[in-house]
Amino acid sequence: MATKKQTVVDERLWQKMVSSLEVHGEVKFKEPMKAHTYLQIGGEADVFTCPQDTVSLENILTVLNEERIPFVTVGGGTNILVKDGGIYGVVISLKNFRRNDIAKEEKDMVLFFAESGTPLQKLVSFSRENGYSGIEGLVGIPGSVGGAIAGNAGAFGYSIKNALVSVRLMHSDKGIYEMSVSELGLEYRASMLPEGAVILSANMRLRKEVKEDVEKKIDSFLKQKRETQPLSEMSAGCVFKNPGGASAGRLIDEAGCKGMRVGDAEVSRVHANFFINKGQAKASDFLKLMDEVKKKVMKVFGTELETEIRIVGRDE
Ligand SMILES: Cc1cc2nc3c(=O)[nH]c(=O)nc-3n(C[C@H](O)[C@H](O)[C@H](O)COP(=O)(O)OP(=O)(O)OC[C@H]3O[C@@H](n4cnc5c(N)ncnc54)[C@H](O)[C@@H]3O)c2cc1C
Repeated sequence: MATKKQTVVDERLWQKMVSSLEVHGEVKFKEPMKAHTYLQIGGEADVFTCPQDTVSLENILTVLNEERIPFVTVGGGTNILVKDGGIYGVVISLKNFRRNDIAKEEKDMVLFFAESGTPLQKLVSFSRENGYSGIEGLVGIPGSVGGAIAGNAGAFGYSIKNALVSVRLMHSDKGIYEMSVSELGLEYRASMLPEGAVILSANMRLRKEVKEDVEKKIDSFLKQKRETQPLSEMSAGCVFKNPGGASAGRLIDEAGCKGMRVGDAEVSRVHANFFINKGQAKASDFLKLMDEVKKKVMKVFGTELETEIRIVGRDE
């Protein structure tokens, strides 16, 4: 079991591993993950790298596979909680993979191509500006297209699954390959993305509709989201999944948890399923708060809450 001081790969080993390979893009060692998550919580990653292109990413994955070094992929870091002991291994950020464009246009629809690091809101703005329908409910969801697909992000009855046609993946054993949306097994805030696969890009189908109608829907959803969620605070979105037909936020609220606090981690007073970092919260505070809220909801309603956010890394 790794302890805090152990690193699986340090600067020297990394340079040795990649010296004969083509690897372009930023590399940082002992990088604090709080700088890369919306929650602004998280210990250091042994290595944090942002490959510039597909060849660099492929070379990194190959060498990590050969050396048996674990890695975590991140998009916008808006749905992850990184533990205080940081990440043992390599974090691969897809932020440089941002190409996006119309791939094909027909009478009633457009096929849109987006690399996984494309901000999801870029797509929503594009749909609003052009009257392309299918992703209206995704307005205001921060993060990248890749992250949205990995967790099948959605709201207001929409999810990215509805617009998605296929994804292009990279895997160290299988190389680059395509998966259709049905093969991805997207469900409520979950996917069956193969272990170790990195989403490179996505093809999405949007319907052409009356521009004003699309605009109106998007604006109304955004207004609702702004009124009901603490969008400007440091959070990771909804902490727990909605159990069955119920709203996790309502259960947490009615169990009396709004405003509950451990250290600087607090259950939002605006939306009880959002936990906020009020300043210097540690992952251990956040996890303890999650545990206390779960216990309260279990005690009051007999309902077991299931975690929605992705928890990565190791304890301090
Ligand atoms: C204020 C706020 C509001 C939110 N509202 C909503 C909402 O209404 N609905 C909703 O569903 N979510 C919501 N979220 C949660 C979050 O924004 C979404 O889940 C978002 O889609 C995550 O994207 P990301 O790029 O930030 O993913 P990250 O947080 O970077 O990663 C999330 C997961 O996806 C994986 N991943 C990311 N990129 C890739 C890739 N290229 N290949 C393989 N795996 C990848 C990561 O390994 C991780 O497991 C909200 C979050 C915040 C902070």
